This record gives sequence, C-alpha cells and structure tokens, in this order.
Amino acid sequence: MRGLDDHTYRKRTAALKAKRHDCWLCGDPIDYTLPWKHKMAFTADHIQPRSKGGHIYGEIRAAHRSCNSSRSNRVTTVTTAPKTALRW
Ligand SMILES: [Zn+2]
Repeated sequence: MRGLDDHTYRKRTAALKAKRHDCWLCGDPIDYTLPWKHKMAFTADHIQPRSKGGHIYGEIRAAHRSCNSSRSNRVTTVTTAPKTALRW
C-alpha cells in the first residue's frame, strides 16, 4: 500500500505528461516516447512548496529521470543558462 494520494498523484502526473513540457531542470526537451525506465525518460519532479504561495499538495514539474535523480542527491539551485548579451 502506498500513500493515500497515490491516485491523485498519478492523475496529476498523467496531466503533466500530456502537456509535453521540457525538462525544468536542464531545459532540454523530453522524449516522451522513451520507456519510463530510460534515464532520459519523463518523470514528475516534486517541488517543495515554498513558504509563499506553495500548493498544498506541492507542485510537480516535468524532468528527465537522470536530472530528477541527480537533484535528489544534493540540493541544487535551478541553473538557468546565463545568456551573455551579444555585443555588436
Ligand atoms: Zn533534464
């Protein structure tokens, strides 16, 4: 027996998957045709609710399996690729 909200979680995961988002951790697109065991397959990453405006059940975002698992090992800040302004 898993958690009480397992059904809800799976519904939310399915809804998220249907949106075909890119990986929110690395920003690369996710191949949604990959088997779920694949390291680059889609996983629902559970975001901890923030002190401000956090959702009760927490928010989930699309992530690669490898990105998701590497994130759980250590707390990392979201790396947004720094865009250096082009100088003409
Ligand atoms: Zn990724």
